[in-house]
Amino acid sequence: MNKPFDFELERLTGQGTDAAPRQRDFAHLSMRGTFFLETFGCQMNDHDSEKVAGVLLARGYRQVETPEAAGLILYNTCSIREKAAQKVFSRLGEYRAKQAEGKIIGVLGCVAQQEGEDIFERAPWVRLVCGSASYRKLPEMLAQLEAGNHHVTGLDTDTDETFETEITRRDNPFRAYLTIIEGCDKACSYCVVPYTRGPERSRASDSILREVRQLGELGYSEVQLLGQTVNSYADPSPRTMRFAELLLAAAEVPGIRRVRFTTSHPSDFTKDIVEAIESQPKVCEHVHLPVQSGSTKVLRAMQRTYTRDEYLEKIAMIRGAKRPIAITTDIIVGFPGETPSDFEETLSLLDEVRYDSLFSFKYSPRPHTPSLKMDDAIPEEEKSRRLAILQDKQREIQTSRNARLIGESYEVLVSGKSRREGQWSGYTSSYRLANFTSHANELLGTYVQVRVTGATPNSLVGEHVV
Ligand code: SAM
Ligand code: SF4
Repeated sequence: MNKPFDFELERLTGQGTDAAPRQRDFAHLSMRGTFFLETFGCQMNDHDSEKVAGVLLARGYRQVETPEAAGLILYNTCSIREKAAQKVFSRLGEYRAKQAEGKIIGVLGCVAQQEGEDIFERAPWVRLVCGSASYRKLPEMLAQLEAGNHHVTGLDTDTDETFETEITRRDNPFRAYLTIIEGCDKACSYCVVPYTRGPERSRASDSILREVRQLGELGYSEVQLLGQTVNSYADPSPRTMRFAELLLAAAEVPGIRRVRFTTSHPSDFTKDIVEAIESQPKVCEHVHLPVQSGSTKVLRAMQRTYTRDEYLEKIAMIRGAKRPIAITTDIIVGFPGETPSDFEETLSLLDEVRYDSLFSFKYSPRPHTPSLKMDDAIPEEEKSRRLAILQDKQREIQTSRNARLIGESYEVLVSGKSRREGQWSGYTSSYRLANFTSHANELLGTYVQVRVTGATPNSLVGEHVV
């Protein structure tokens, strides 16, 4: 993962090592010129970390694999549920002693934004606190740290800028993430994201497509467009490209063979997105469309801006496409006021939609959210019971949906090689994981046809069709 700096910069910029003079400027910093970056949370956090790493590499820092080897230790954090936030503080506790060794410790991301300067009180050994809406100021903040400033913060959320970097140090050699919209203007009553990531800001279509072209030139064949509500994209440039047009334009870029996108908000999910998938095979046949609950009453309390019936109309539109489109979702159980019959409605929605996969969570009260004021009266054991019932039901659905694919063949982008001889894995356009056998010597990064010979709830089993 951590390659020599010169090699990294050459690969990321497509230029020779002449592009790396700053590394020499910082040579005197020895261990202070090294960083360790650990990431918790969603794909957007993963991708933010790739950009943060790019900013540091461009300043002459070198990425290392352990906190022990680093002068700068950074945590990119998640606060979507309480457990995730607690994990961050316990990890920071473990690093208290590291500060005494002269290391600089920084907290980035959603916990940084949520807790702000209180982090310095709770963990005085932390020297940098920076939320994701302030990442564009990271170079200045790094300069302040290098100048010896003790506590440096970046906590503004009132920005209309997005975080774009000259260099992004991507972890995945096959699929490249690209944020096209940051923040969120929805106001789901349980969710901390509008607070931690700030208001919605879309990136200009020209800038997005320029990066897609660079990615194609660097050898990436799959791009994944990211946003908390990716389909609320509103091109701020005079071109005013619609989200569906952007998908089609990205698919036209030389070298690009797959375009994915996540996460879609049901209220902004329009017919032209389905038409883009229908008309362009490179736009992946998968939509992640979080529903959160099957009960209109609970959806209203969640401030989700659609009813069960309106959501089902979107599902019918997707299911009616000329090309089969996989649908996945997110569900929260045990939201304040969710009665047993509301929960039954979520179960019946599962029967009706028959999702290809889902992420399910127990409701977790979060700071700064409207639902914090609601009575969180459902006991933890009851939330766990509902979660288990939901997951059992979904397992049955996935088992039967995947079993129906036996005998079919799908194109798979090979991204994994097992230690076991001849065993490979990768994803279909519909984002199903396929584990398959092949006698080929090297397949990583290539697209192959796989015939499905078996299925489990979470993956397909198959063989390479030559
Ligand atoms: N923006 C996306 C959306 O609108 O669905 C995803 C937001 S969040 C990173 C991913 C999922 O976490 C949500 O879809 C929701 O199911 C879950 N989530 C968010 N806040 C939660 C909370 N307070 N308790 C439990 N689950 C939560
Ligand atoms: Fe959170 Fe709702 Fe925005 Fe998704 S749409 S990030 S759940 S507020």
